[in-house]
Amino acid sequence: MGCQYLEDLYELYLLGTLSEKDSAAVGEHLERGCPYCREGLREATLIVCLLTQTVRPARLDSKHKSRLLRRLRKKP
Ligand SMILES: [Zn+2]
Repeated sequence: MGCQYLEDLYELYLLGTLSEKDSAAVGEHLERGCPYCREGLREATLIVCLLTQTVRPARLDSKHKSRLLRRLRKKP
């Protein structure tokens, strides 16, 4: 597997959402010490950290909630 293919998988790898096969492929590749992927993974770690810190579950007040539910129930 090439570095360019793995590049798309760093975030998913960190979040633990890859298939076992892909996760193992990324892990093995990193253990071989590829400098390109190490740097990429470092950046991906920052992105994942930022995302998990900034994303909060949305809370709607009851007025907006009932409006949203009405819209969702409306037939197109
Ligand atoms: Zn690599």
